[in-house]
Amino acid sequence: MAIVSLTGIIVTQSYWVRRAYSMQEKEFNDRVSIAMSSVVQRIMALNEDSSIVEPVEQVSSSFFVANINDTLHPYLLETLLREEFQASNLQEDFEYGIYDCFNDSIVFGGKVNFEDEIVHAEQADVSIQKKFDKDGHYFGIYFPSKTGIIVRQMDFWLFSSFVILVIVIFFAYTIYIILKQKRLSEVKTDFINNMTHELKTPISTIGVSAGVLLKDNIVEDPERLHRYAQIIENENNRLKTQVDKVLQLASLSPDKVDIKSERLDMQDIVSKACSTYGVKVGEKGGTLSMAQVSDPLMVRGDRVHITNIVYNLLDNACKYAEGAPAIDVSLTAQQGWVVLSVQDHGIGIDKKHQSNIFEKFYRVPTGNVHNVKGFGLGLYYVYTIVRAHQGKIELESTPGKGSTFKVFLKREQHEQ
Ligand code: ADP
Repeated sequence: MAIVSLTGIIVTQSYWVRRAYSMQEKEFNDRVSIAMSSVVQRIMALNEDSSIVEPVEQVSSSFFVANINDTLHPYLLETLLREEFQASNLQEDFEYGIYDCFNDSIVFGGKVNFEDEIVHAEQADVSIQKKFDKDGHYFGIYFPSKTGIIVRQMDFWLFSSFVILVIVIFFAYTIYIILKQKRLSEVKTDFINNMTHELKTPISTIGVSAGVLLKDNIVEDPERLHRYAQIIENENNRLKTQVDKVLQLASLSPDKVDIKSERLDMQDIVSKACSTYGVKVGEKGGTLSMAQVSDPLMVRGDRVHITNIVYNLLDNACKYAEGAPAIDVSLTAQQGWVVLSVQDHGIGIDKKHQSNIFEKFYRVPTGNVHNVKGFGLGLYYVYTIVRAHQGKIELESTPGKGSTFKVFLKREQHEQ
């Protein structure tokens, strides 16, 4: 509705501006015609000529011609034009030319500037070289800056158009902010729902298990006791992982990330992460392979954060697999970069979501229910940390086929 009414205002304003322009233009033309008619009448009176002529004709938007029956002295014309234009309040610069139909040429041409002295121009210098098929003498007046003159007289309209333009810009900006806030609030609600679910489930499981352990006769059934203690431990670990994930992020501010700077062997970090994570993938019946490199690939950065990046990427590759995960990890050196590539053969990511997945809280929408739980924070964390290391991240993904995340970190040369 707001956009429709704003469009209405813009259309109405343009209509009125155009109308105002044509009215101003008509008024200007009329004033010029009247002034030129008066000039012609005065010349005829001086020449004692009483014939009736159709004196003034507008040939084009800025060009007017007037018929006279006799030769004319330019200085006389100039003086009369100045007097009449001044009387009609038309103090605008103009050019004039006196034409002679017998030799078909401009007899005299000049420019008149109301502020300075009269400037006579060479004939060739006058814009109005055009000749007309007239039989007789005539003179022509040309206003080189007619549009400018009319626009200057429309200061109210210019001001109101400017005000409307400012309103439109503010309005567009407001809409942009509203839409942005709306998306952010949806994303936050999603996050809170996820979080509640993720935290509530282990808490209630722990509660139930603790209830079982509190029963008096539980010591008589050590196997049951052990099973429930195990459940409590597992759920506690799950809770810890979730809380860690959120805390990991809470400690990050996008403008300034506290990064330690130490020499790190990427091969060492990645292979350790792969062997730890390999167990988890193995439990799901999947595979995790890592291509070995012979050269040491050193980077400068923060061990904890870089290790977390690797875990986050492996975690996603495992979470978004279709069936048993199949993950290929490789480390390569490319033109001053160490490139960590994590490839999965999972569900993939549609092109339209690829640019968003690194945003805070963003999860690819899959209808109301997400079968994979998460907070939409993992990739935001990866992105922030990679940026803080002056690195970059690339994604290639085809829905249904899988995704490859490539992290580029600056390579440190061997220590001398
Ligand atoms: P989440 O906690 O939801 O996994 P992330 O920030 O790690 O949050 O990922 C954001 C979104 O990107 C995920 O919700 C998922 O839809 C998509 N995504 C991330 N990694 C992969 C992957 N390897 N395969 C398919 N989709 C992925």
